[in-house]
Amino acid sequence: MLEETINILCKQYGVSEEVVKFVNSKEKLIQDKFKNIDQVAEYNHYKVIKSMQDVKLTSTDFNWTTGYGYGDIGRDKVEEIYSIIFNTEDALVRPLIASGTHAINLTLSGLLRPNDEFVSITGSPYDTLQEVIGIKGNQKGTLLDYGVKYKEVPLKENKIDINGVIESIGQDTKLLFIQRSTGYSDRRAIPIKEIEKAIKAIKDYKKDIIVMVDNCYGEFTDVVEPTDVGADIMAGSLIKNPGGGLAYAGGYVVGKKDLVEQVANRSTAPGIGKACGLTFGMTRSILQGLFLAPHIVAQALKGAILIGVVYKELGFDIVPDIDDVRSDIIQGIKLQTPERVVEFCKGIQKASAVDSYITPMPWNMPGYKDKVVMAAGGFVEGSSIELSADGPMREPYYVYFQGGLTYEHCKLGAMISVNNLYKNNLISKNKLTI
Ligand SMILES: *Cc1c(COP(=O)(O)O)cnc(C)c1O
Repeated sequence: MLEETINILCKQYGVSEEVVKFVNSKEKLIQDKFKNIDQVAEYNHYKVIKSMQDVKLTSTDFNWTTGYGYGDIGRDKVEEIYSIIFNTEDALVRPLIASGTHAINLTLSGLLRPNDEFVSITGSPYDTLQEVIGIKGNQKGTLLDYGVKYKEVPLKENKIDINGVIESIGQDTKLLFIQRSTGYSDRRAIPIKEIEKAIKAIKDYKKDIIVMVDNCYGEFTDVVEPTDVGADIMAGSLIKNPGGGLAYAGGYVVGKKDLVEQVANRSTAPGIGKACGLTFGMTRSILQGLFLAPHIVAQALKGAILIGVVYKELGFDIVPDIDDVRSDIIQGIKLQTPERVVEFCKGIQKASAVDSYITPMPWNMPGYKDKVVMAAGGFVEGSSIELSADGPMREPYYVYFQGGLTYEHCKLGAMISVNNLYKNNLISKNKLTI
């Protein structure tokens, strides 16, 4: 590290020199992990560019329409590009999909009818989806409220319990749900190889069952996606990986044509489907973000490994571990106390370019049962492909670190968060000796 860099960190950001040296020394331990990440990014970048060439993307595609949004060529090309990249028959990619939860809710409610059963085969799904289903909270209009039946098959030794899943399939079982990413749990993201094995076994047993994947945070972390290995339909958020930090908002659903059609009908109206829906001038940022996404995901992955090794060396349990196969951009750190989770998030917030002076506090976020603390100083509000960290205020007090549009920004976040814990006596001083 340059002398100038140490100076700016210590004098202007107020980071202790011990902390700077500590993080630098841990960075050396993970260099060999970066090579594979770069290779995956290279492949995915070429894949993305080719998809844009294949649809003959041209500058007038960035124009937009008004009103109903009929004949928006750019919007149609965005969806074609997504279906090429994710190797699916069709796609729905819209800025009007408000979030990942919205995309998943549209998919589930578009595909399931009263008395249909769906089974989450990776244990309890992400917090907001528990409210969508109706197993938490007391919202109206949940899936249970509409007469859909639901059950869960827990993971077995952190893997999909394939026998348990097959046994769970009954006459009314219509859809199996896989959450690829960690979510607010203590298990690692499910590697594509394991998703593939599970889908194959399921399809061998019952061919017409729908396998859906919540792909949030998983995009471009591997050279294949769940839809390459047999998933019928998949959903995610544009303010996570595939938006590359540039998309202002949106969600996507990709999959088999008849399934995407049902979801599109749910999203607008039966008979209208994908034909309507204004893009509000978002096509350019959605596509430029997608163009950057493989590279940005690589930056975030490197940042996650750095923050992982730093906190592991400070004595905390981390998920995934340094040598685990990564299938999302999340680094979970078991900080064990609420004070540490809050101080960690304050440190990440302090490292942000936007809203760095704001102090994050635990609050009752819509869709979450426990209070959640969030460091989110993004150029796009709530964007978690940008440097961010969050954690629910519950045992065993994990913090989840993700994103970072540049590796350097992740490193700054690592240093300021450690410094925050250190200055507040939440880690012991001798842990920092190298
Ligand atoms: C982020 C996320 C979602 C959706 O969350 P939104 O904030 O609504 O975009 C769903 N599932 C998982 C696993 C997630 O990480």
